[in-house]
Amino acid sequence: MPDAQTTPIHDVVVIGAGAMGLAAAHHVAKSGASTLVLEAGNIPGGMAAHFDFDGVSLERFYHFVCKTDQDTFDLMAELGISNQMVWKETSMGYFTRGKLHDWGNPVALLKYPHLNPIEKFRYGLMAWWCTKRKSWGPAESMTAPDWFRAWLGESCYQKMWHRLLYLKLFQFTDVVSATWIATRIQRIGRSRKSLLQEQLGHIAGGTQTLVDALCKSILSNGGEIRCSAPVANIEAGEDHLKTVRCADGSEVRAREVISTVPTPLVNAMIPQLSEDEKSKLDAIDNIGVVCLVYKLKRKVTGHFWLNIIDEDHAIPGLIEFSALRDFGDETIVYAPYYMPVDNPRWAWTDEALLDEAFETMKAVNPDLTEADVLTRQAARLVHSQPICTPNFLDKLPAVDTSVPGVQVADTCYYYPEDRGISESVGFAKGMAATALGRLQQNGEDH
Ligand SMILES: Cc1cc2nc3c(=O)[nH]c(=O)nc-3n(C[C@H](O)[C@H](O)[C@H](O)COP(=O)(O)OP(=O)(O)OC[C@H]3O[C@@H](n4cnc5c(N)ncnc54)[C@H](O)[C@@H]3O)c2cc1C
Repeated sequence: MPDAQTTPIHDVVVIGAGAMGLAAAHHVAKSGASTLVLEAGNIPGGMAAHFDFDGVSLERFYHFVCKTDQDTFDLMAELGISNQMVWKETSMGYFTRGKLHDWGNPVALLKYPHLNPIEKFRYGLMAWWCTKRKSWGPAESMTAPDWFRAWLGESCYQKMWHRLLYLKLFQFTDVVSATWIATRIQRIGRSRKSLLQEQLGHIAGGTQTLVDALCKSILSNGGEIRCSAPVANIEAGEDHLKTVRCADGSEVRAREVISTVPTPLVNAMIPQLSEDEKSKLDAIDNIGVVCLVYKLKRKVTGHFWLNIIDEDHAIPGLIEFSALRDFGDETIVYAPYYMPVDNPRWAWTDEALLDEAFETMKAVNPDLTEADVLTRQAARLVHSQPICTPNFLDKLPAVDTSVPGVQVADTCYYYPEDRGISESVGFAKGMAATALGRLQQNGEDH
């Protein structure tokens, strides 16, 4: 048993070294508070982490930046890496009934062959309305399918959206919130150079550049980041200190704890939460992702984002990352298989999924052959996307929990925004401010 008298005390212990945890730790460490980050994985970064893809440092999960990602820009400025933002003119496509079509601008909508003029008008109006909204009004209490039906009609919803939603959400398709999807349409719709030209960004060197800069800031401000240190248990004592226990039995004590781990893991980690908090956290469903990535000798379509609506194919889209970030002559393309982890496909081997998705790529571009594949890999994540239902914020327990000095959040806390680096780092700022405010109140002046 570790001795409580000699267990080190930190002002703030942050659990999880993803974008949210690192950004929170950066803010608290910068203010002079003693800061420790505990991360289960063997490297920092969480969903934003990189891996070595045949000699290229690459995100396990593709990341693009939109022009509305102000919290990312603010953080990059603070870290002195604003000059690392790279913008690119990008395009979208739809692969429908065996054919590739342009998408994502008014001309493409007019030319799209599978919608009638009234459907085109309704679709354009919906997309325009989404980019203009500041609040969502009655849409907040609607599900996404009902909201699409109201805007587009049943037939257009089926042709343009149903399969995209279904191949990501499966049994959750009919319960997902309208505003969660509308904010996604808004984010992309607002990232434009002109009405006709989409413009998306990436961080030079990938999200690792941001992760590295955050780690550097934490360390240079006297903080510590401990990887391969999964937290098993957090317990509040009567002395206002929390004991944070790792799976290997090691312990630290903290005045403030900020947990950024996926909410489904929180109840087991913090048994002192109230029954109300536990049941609310228990009610949040998540889906997983098997994210495949290929390095190819030739392009698939040249579109950054391709939606696939075709009964013969089991992935809803391809992300041709090399249309955003330059990889020389090589093409990098991701194929995400989102699914609840009880889906039979989750039990497939990575190889089987890699083979199946490549068949889809060959259908999209019949010139592609196996000889074009330079390398390929899969990454899995069990908690990749919380399922946000209408009026979702009303269903969440407060960030500042009933356990004094313990805050809990994950990507669903910034609903209706979808998971995003910008949203995570923005949310982290608020959690850091709460922790610092309380430290100050309690006389731990920083
Ligand atoms: C396929 C995919 C594509 C995406 N595309 C984009 C995009 O284009 N643009 C964009 O902005 N965002 C994108 N995102 C979302 C973005 O990656 C996330 O919003 C962001 O990285 C979340 O950061 P986070 O810190 O909130 O969560 P996470 O990154 O999940 O961090 C949580 C951390 O907690 C750790 N942890 C878990 N349990 C414990 C424990 N017991 N003890 C200690 N640590 C623990 C985890 O290992 C993890 O590192 C994408 C995500 C995915 C999966």
